[in-house]
Amino acid sequence: MIAIRPNLYKELAQELAPTFAARADEWDKTRTYCWDNIPHLVDAGLMGMTLPREHGGLAASFHDCVLVIEEIAKACTLTARIVVEANMGGISAVMAYGSKFQKDFCAPIVLAGDKPAICITEPEAGSAATEMQTTARKCGDKYILNGTKHWITGGGVSKLHLVFARVIDEQNNDLGIGGFILHRDPSKGINPRGFEIRRREHTMGLCGMPEAELHFDNVEIDEAFALKPKSGYHKGFAELMTAYNSQRVGAGTVAMGIAAGALNRAKDYLKKREQFGRPLAEFQGLQWMIADMDTSVHASRLMLHEAAKSADTSPTGFPDMNLAARAKLFASEAAIKTVSDALQMFGARGYGDQEPLERMYRDVRMFTIGGGTAQVLRNQIAGQALGMKTPQTRDGYVDLPHSAPFRVVGE
Ligand SMILES: Cc1cc2nc3c(=O)[nH]c(=O)nc-3n(C[C@H](O)[C@H](O)[C@H](O)COP(=O)(O)OP(=O)(O)OC[C@H]3O[C@@H](n4cnc5c(N)ncnc54)[C@H](O)[C@@H]3O)c2cc1C
Repeated sequence: MIAIRPNLYKELAQELAPTFAARADEWDKTRTYCWDNIPHLVDAGLMGMTLPREHGGLAASFHDCVLVIEEIAKACTLTARIVVEANMGGISAVMAYGSKFQKDFCAPIVLAGDKPAICITEPEAGSAATEMQTTARKCGDKYILNGTKHWITGGGVSKLHLVFARVIDEQNNDLGIGGFILHRDPSKGINPRGFEIRRREHTMGLCGMPEAELHFDNVEIDEAFALKPKSGYHKGFAELMTAYNSQRVGAGTVAMGIAAGALNRAKDYLKKREQFGRPLAEFQGLQWMIADMDTSVHASRLMLHEAAKSADTSPTGFPDMNLAARAKLFASEAAIKTVSDALQMFGARGYGDQEPLERMYRDVRMFTIGGGTAQVLRNQIAGQALGMKTPQTRDGYVDLPHSAPFRVVGE
């Protein structure tokens, strides 16, 4: 077996970081996807680095991937998010639960530079994701997909989509939630009929990444592209969503990386900038802010690494759900505060766009919302801490009977 230098992947990311930092503001201002960074990620093997070797990946651990994401997030949030989604979330669900055909189909697309999209959220099903109404009706050897998803990261640039939908059998029974792989590649004329990207959101931060509304109007999906949970559709969402624990760790790491980058900039600035005849770094009021920022970045990093490493011992191969939830919750909230404090230290310059702090501040704000809000993560952590279910519906925990007849809400 080839021995790999312990920090090889981190060093690779550090080499690429200045290239990514140079154009981070440009992607933000022009609201453009950073296509020019993709070949660098592909050449370094970072797209799909966690995929197994037999599928062309580097078989890197989630911990290695987290080290890479932090270094890239210090330079360019947009590029770091691409590395998250090219290793965690949708593609990791396919690699863990998909058929050989599905793995052979998806892996090369990601290795060639695609950032897959994971499609869960709907206009009426946000935090209450299991209330989704998009349906996949079985019809012979196909599924017919109907519904709307919104706030889908990469909608319009991604080729692979993992779409979650209620699976309805030919007798109109609602079996539960499954995943469906949808491939779109307009450059090759691949545009599934009935699949439409209608609208791009105008976001306050992360502006180079499209967040889009996707419509499915009788889209036909071959049975071979249905990601069937091993435990059956009834418990399927919970099973497939174990992959999401890796994405949560990835998202938390992007937030922590932005904070670490902002802290570095603040430390340099405090030593350079003088007021009252002294460098700002000599004022204790600011020194203590640096101490708190440094401590919160360090604590976030430890929690994220612990969560990432838990995948090695987990039966699913994914990070432990609770460690991932705690790490994402803590890191995202701490990062917002750290970046805000760094901006404060730059005074007016922090508020203007000559420094990247204002972009970093807008970018980091997202991480308590996307990928499970801070409140929803708290619900989960509290349930675990108290050893009880914490039902959120008025009538308590509703466990759908197996094969419940499907009803459209309001019908
Ligand atoms: C930039 C960005 C990227 C995203 N990317 C994707 C993506 O790629 N794929 C995807 O499927 N989705 C994506 N999302 C959607 C994201 O997952 C949802 O926004 C999130 O799940 C919250 O849903 P909602 O926005 O509908 O808020 P709501 O669920 O309507 O919640 C509104 C507020 O109420 C709180 N709340 C809700 N329920 C409870 C409760 N039980 N207890 C306490 N508080 C509660 C929430 O925390 C929130 O503060 C993205 C969102 C953003 C902002």
